[in-house]
Amino acid sequence: MSVATVATAPTTTPQSALLHTPAELVFVTLDEAGEIAYFQSASEHKQGKRNVTAIEIMTLETYCFCKAGELGRLCWHVALARL
Ligand SMILES: [Zn+2]
Repeated sequence: MSVATVATAPTTTPQSALLHTPAELVFVTLDEAGEIAYFQSASEHKQGKRNVTAIEIMTLETYCFCKAGELGRLCWHVALARL
C-alpha cells in the first residue's frame, strides 16, 4: 500500500520573481503599531491598479492582495517582500 502524497503550498520562489526586482515593491507605510509594513506595486493584469502586499515584521508572515494572492498562490510580491 502506497502512502498518499499530501499537497502542500509551494515553498519555492515562483519563476515570476526572477522577472522582477525589489525596487518594484514601493514601501508605503507601517500600521499604527509599527508591526505591519505595506508595499505597493503596479498590477500586470489591470493597468492603473496597484497591488498591496503586507508583511508582519516580527513573524515575516506575508499577505498579498494581487490576483495570485487572492487564489492562495505564492506570488513574486511575497517572494521579494521577504528579501
Ligand atoms: Zn502578489
